Amino acid sequence: MRIFNFSAGPAVLPEQVLHRAAEEMLDWHGSGMSVMEMSHRGKEFIGIADKAQADLRTLLAIPDNYKVLFLQGGAMAENALIPMNLLGKKTGADYINTGEWSKKSIKEAKKYCAVHVAASAEDKNFTYVPPQDSWKLNQDAAYVHVCTNETIGGVEYHWVPQTGEVPLVADMSSHILSRAVDVARYGVIYGGAQKNIGPAGLTLVIVRDDLLGQALPITPSAFNWKEQADNDSMLNTPPTYSIYIAGLVFEWLLAEGGIAAMEKKNIAKAALLYDYLDQTGFYSNPVAPGDRSRMNIPFKLKDESLNEAFLKGAQKNDMVQLKGHRAVGGMRASIYNAMPLEGVQALVAYMKEFERTNG
Ligand SMILES: *Cc1c(COP(=O)(O)O)cnc(C)c1O
Repeated sequence: MRIFNFSAGPAVLPEQVLHRAAEEMLDWHGSGMSVMEMSHRGKEFIGIADKAQADLRTLLAIPDNYKVLFLQGGAMAENALIPMNLLGKKTGADYINTGEWSKKSIKEAKKYCAVHVAASAEDKNFTYVPPQDSWKLNQDAAYVHVCTNETIGGVEYHWVPQTGEVPLVADMSSHILSRAVDVARYGVIYGGAQKNIGPAGLTLVIVRDDLLGQALPITPSAFNWKEQADNDSMLNTPPTYSIYIAGLVFEWLLAEGGIAAMEKKNIAKAALLYDYLDQTGFYSNPVAPGDRSRMNIPFKLKDESLNEAFLKGAQKNDMVQLKGHRAVGGMRASIYNAMPLEGVQALVAYMKEFERTNG
């Protein structure tokens, strides 16, 4: 029996993908072995990795002049690797601070480059995206870094920043594949897989090829994007099983109608929850309506002494991982691609019932 898992990550995976992985566990396509046991340089695994990349390129319509890298270390490692790989002869970069994950990116980058915070939402407790006309961008910056979906605060960009000649670098960990994205507007898109792609252990980097080859000499080879690109992400052993599962997720997304179909479902799922939050005084969401995340929806009970009872009742109704991040408190529902509409319907029904009996 499956429960509704609202975890921010590692997060719910499509049931069909898990069934398929189970069927193929002991003997992948007559190879007599599990994908976990395959050489990453053997023809079976190369086929799996190539298909995963091809399907991802189809899903996101990634232009040919972009490299897709399957790496390790998570988005947290990339926060350090971005300045290492992109600074070149420059000394600084612009960062937009929209919350907890932006702050972590800034903290890491500061170890390697001069960080200029070009805009910040701290004045309103990170409940909005600062509008572009308030950004103080530096023409000499090596890049502009944004976190396009703040997983903890539940703030999402619903527009693409304009950065002119300066490459735009986006941490899309928690909303990649949830909506259409014009890859060509970005220099680099990156994210950990465990939110909306697949299992933990895989880190995705999509990088425009003219940005390669500027790594600082201290950059570890395993994390040097150019070296990895030149070696099809197989300079060293990649996270093979995570790539395989991600590939199954990509196949599932294509079968479901691709990103456009998924985006439609995600809009409907998020609207269901936000509409209810906006019509009750029992719960509330603090984010500016135009900047609300479709993937991560934080909310608070007006009477926070009911938090424990709320979570216990949810668990009893087979809904788990609704506790908010400690940085913001309250509750959070993460409703990634693999969360079915029925899960959100069940959550809203439970919230209404909890309000009726405790309000
Ligand atoms: C989860 C998350 C990260 C951290 O990813 P790790 O894989 O744990 O390093 C970074 N940025 C965002 C937006 C996230 O949601």
